[in-house]
Amino acid sequence: MNYFTKEHEMFRESLRDFLNKEVKRNIDKWESDHKIPRDIWKKMGDQGFLGLTYPEKYGGFDLDFFFEVILFEEMSKMNSGGFVITQQVVQCMSSPYILKYGSEELKGKYLPGIISGDLIGCIGITEPDAGSDVKSIKTKAEDKGDHYLLNGSKTFITNGVYGDFVVTVAKTDSNAGTKGISLIVVDLNSKGINRTKIDKLGWHASDTAEISFDNVKVPKENLIGKEGKGFYYLMNGLQLERLIFVPSCVGAMEFAISESIKYMKQRKSFGQTIDKFQAIRHKIASLSSEIESAKVFGYYCCELYNKNIYDVKLCSMAKLLVTELHEKVSTECLQFFGGNGFSEEYPLARMYRDCRVGTIGAGTSEIMREIIAKAVIDDTEFKKVKS
Ligand SMILES: Cc1cc2nc3c(=O)[nH]c(=O)nc-3n(C[C@H](O)[C@H](O)[C@H](O)COP(=O)(O)OP(=O)(O)OC[C@H]3O[C@@H](n4cnc5c(N)ncnc54)[C@H](O)[C@@H]3O)c2cc1C
Repeated sequence: MNYFTKEHEMFRESLRDFLNKEVKRNIDKWESDHKIPRDIWKKMGDQGFLGLTYPEKYGGFDLDFFFEVILFEEMSKMNSGGFVITQQVVQCMSSPYILKYGSEELKGKYLPGIISGDLIGCIGITEPDAGSDVKSIKTKAEDKGDHYLLNGSKTFITNGVYGDFVVTVAKTDSNAGTKGISLIVVDLNSKGINRTKIDKLGWHASDTAEISFDNVKVPKENLIGKEGKGFYYLMNGLQLERLIFVPSCVGAMEFAISESIKYMKQRKSFGQTIDKFQAIRHKIASLSSEIESAKVFGYYCCELYNKNIYDVKLCSMAKLLVTELHEKVSTECLQFFGGNGFSEEYPLARMYRDCRVGTIGAGTSEIMREIIAKAVIDDTEFKKVKS
């Protein structure tokens, strides 16, 4: 089944040209600087590469989800997980809550900026004492009449150091369990916010922050949707957050295979190029087969999402499969490069570092297996919650 039309392919071509021209030559610097300059997002916005599925009313293009799939597949071929995750967080993990549940004022304030590339958003769920167990968060937003008073801290927040706003998961009622959790947009330059950069194994181009909130005043109108509904909005939104690993892992794995084959065709050992050794040829054949099957299944899940079909079990399976396969592919492809695989001069060292977070972020592999087991063994049905 082909999910891509002529329009999709034209979009892919022009995006590829743009990335090769504007990103490829800079990516090593952004990785070593641990920072991506803002102007690249502005350029992507100007070229119409951001806000693809967002309504025209806010500057978006109202396109189908496969344009987003192309965006992240192609961005991944630049071989910097940090570059890709920055916009995945903006386009697919934080702003969708504003779009789906926010007031017109919030949409008008934030969405045009994330589509033009002027604004960078974050999603603030994880805390030092609560990651997988979201309902145990402690960050509190107290109702003070015309504003909330926010206290607490978040950790591992992608874009949290250089970003502009964070969709913050906070307790508006500490005694109401999941029904006391709300989503609130917080401007990151507000008084009382402190951000500390976290030094990481990979995703070097991306900034990750620990953020503390010390009596931060947040206007009441920054509440997304209804008070106490935040946990349910999150449960609906996490499917996209997980699904979006499909294009980024597929793009990266295809890049790893094509770089490996290029290397194998010129590297000589025992008087012949190493692509002639059956042991290596068969490895490439097996990995390519696994990538292709993960891709077909992943695209099927993307098509369900495109048709607004909510399938928690399949999204969790897709995230689990592609992130674990990505780890395997980067380990095995690094091996094809011998000692050069371990060198920063060659592409696999970075991918080996970057892929490691895939089985942790946006729900660990263990949590994906828990969800899948509940669906498969206990017949649990995960239903979309109405707002
Ligand atoms: C680079 C990076 C970027 C990130 N970006 C963001 C971001 O932008 N926003 C954000 O909110 N968060 C972000 N995260 C946080 C990420 O989502 C969490 O790290 C993840 O959800 C796991 O939570 P935790 O680290 O607290 O681990 P824990 O929940 O403490 O888990 C520790 C271990 O126990 C296992 N475990 C926990 N519960 C169970 C269970 N019920 N059954 C079986 N095993 C279990 C886990 O699988 C894991 O192996 C990021 C993390 C990283 C590393």
